Amino acid sequence: MDAVASSLAQLSQALNLIPKEKRGYLHNVLGGAEAVISFKLPLRRDNGKLETVDAFRVQYNRTRGPYKGGLRYHPQVSLAEVTALAFWMTIKNAVADLPLGGGKGGIAIDPKLLSTSELERLTRTFGKYLSPHIGPYWDIPAPDLGTNADTMRWLSEEYHKSARRLKNGYHKSELLATFTGKPLDFGGSRVRTEATGLGGLFVLDTIVRMFKLERGRVDPLRVAVQGFGNVGYHMALLLSENGYLVTAVSDSRGGFFNPAGLNIDRLANLKRGYGSFKNVPNFPATYVSNSQLLELPVDILVPAALENQITADNAKRVQAGVVLEMANGPTSFEGEEILVQQKTLVVPDVLANAGGVCVSYFEWQQNLKGQRWTANRVSERLKGKMVKAAVSVIRTAKKQKTSLRTGAYVMALERIYGAGHQVGS
Ligand code: NAP
Repeated sequence: MDAVASSLAQLSQALNLIPKEKRGYLHNVLGGAEAVISFKLPLRRDNGKLETVDAFRVQYNRTRGPYKGGLRYHPQVSLAEVTALAFWMTIKNAVADLPLGGGKGGIAIDPKLLSTSELERLTRTFGKYLSPHIGPYWDIPAPDLGTNADTMRWLSEEYHKSARRLKNGYHKSELLATFTGKPLDFGGSRVRTEATGLGGLFVLDTIVRMFKLERGRVDPLRVAVQGFGNVGYHMALLLSENGYLVTAVSDSRGGFFNPAGLNIDRLANLKRGYGSFKNVPNFPATYVSNSQLLELPVDILVPAALENQITADNAKRVQAGVVLEMANGPTSFEGEEILVQQKTLVVPDVLANAGGVCVSYFEWQQNLKGQRWTANRVSERLKGKMVKAAVSVIRTAKKQKTSLRTGAYVMALERIYGAGHQVGS
C-alpha cells in the first residue's frame, strides 16, 4: 500500500469509531484536498542549459486555521506523496491542538545533485511561483526533508518581493510570518532546528512513564535511529543525553551498530567530514544497511527518514517493543497490522513528530506579535503541548480500546468536526 492508500485506510479505520451522524461530514472534508497546485519550474543549470522541474503545493484542509506544512526536496516527490503528507499534517495539527489546517509541498529533485547556486536559483523561482498562493493567514510553509532554514530565507525573500508587486497590504511582520523554520537572524524561533527531535523526546518520555517501561541507569532502553538529518540527528543526540542508549544510527547509505552505545557528537563530526557514514574508515562498530537497522535487537526503533520503511515484508522481523515514528508515514497500513499483532507499540507520526510544527506555530506567533521568546520559554511551551497531546492520545486509545494511531485520529476528527460546526454556524 502506498502513502495515499495507507492514509485513507487509517482515516476509514478511525471513522468507524466516530458517531454515525458526524461521519459523512468528516468523510467529505477529509477524503480529498481542497486545492492542488502544480508548477513546472524552469531551472537554468550552471552550464546554461534550461530544464523544468515538477513542484507542488497541496492545501488539504483549513477548517481549523491556515494550511500549514513543510516543503520537501526529494527525487520521490510526487503529487500523490505530497497529498498524503498534507492529509497527515491536517491530522497532526489537530492532535497538537494548534489552530492550523494542513498542507504540504515539494520539488521532485535530488538537492544533492545541484550546486548551491542552482539550488538557490530553483528555490527563488519556487518562491515566486508560490507567492500568490500563500500568506500569513492562508498558507504557511516550513522546512521538511531536503530543505532547511536557508531554503526558508530564500523563499521568504522572494515572497517579500512578490508582496510588494502584488500589493497585498500585509505588514512586514505578517510577511515574515508567512514562512516558519527561518534562520534566527531572519525572524526564526529559538529551538526550531531541534524542535521535532525535542518534541519526540517529550512524547517518548511520556510513553515510557505511562506504559511503565522505565529501566535503571545500569540497563537503559536501547534505541536504533534511522536517518541522520535534522530530525534523526537531533533525536539521537537528545536521546543519548537523556538516559537512553543509542546503539544504531544510519543515513541514506546505511549506518553503524554497537550494542555498547554510540557517541553521537563524534558521529555527527564524521558525517560532516566524510559526507556519508559509508565513507568513514575504521569506526568501532558494525556496518549495517538501512533494512538491517530496522531489525536490530533494540527496545525502541525510531524511523526518522522516509515513508514506507516498515511494511508487510519486514514488520515480522522488527524486534523493538516500541516504534516511535519520527518520519512521516514510515509504517505502511499492513506493516502496522503486523506490529499490532505482535504487540509492538507504535507511537504514530501525527503525535511523535508534531514538535516541529508546534515550534513553527510559536515562530508564527512571535513574528506577528513582534516578539522574541527565550529558548527556555519555547522549550517549556513545547513540553506542555507535547505531553498534553501524548496523554490525551493514550487516554483516547485506551477508552476506545484501539491503537495509539487510531486514538490520535479519533481525537483529531472530533476536533475538526467541532471547528467545522463553529465555522458553519
Ligand atoms: P533531512 O534533514 O533531509 O534528513 C533526512 C535523513 O534521512 C538524512 O540523514 C538522509 O540521509 C536520510 N535518508 C534518506 N533516504 C534514506 C533511506 N532510504 N534510508 C535511510 N535514511 C535515509 O530530513 P528531516 O527534516 O530530518 O526529515 C526526516 C523525516 O522527518 C521526514 O519524513 C520528514 O517529513 C519528517 N519530519 C520532519 C520535520 C522537520 O521539522 N524537519 C518535522 C516533522 C516530520 P543522507 O544524510 O545520506 O542524505
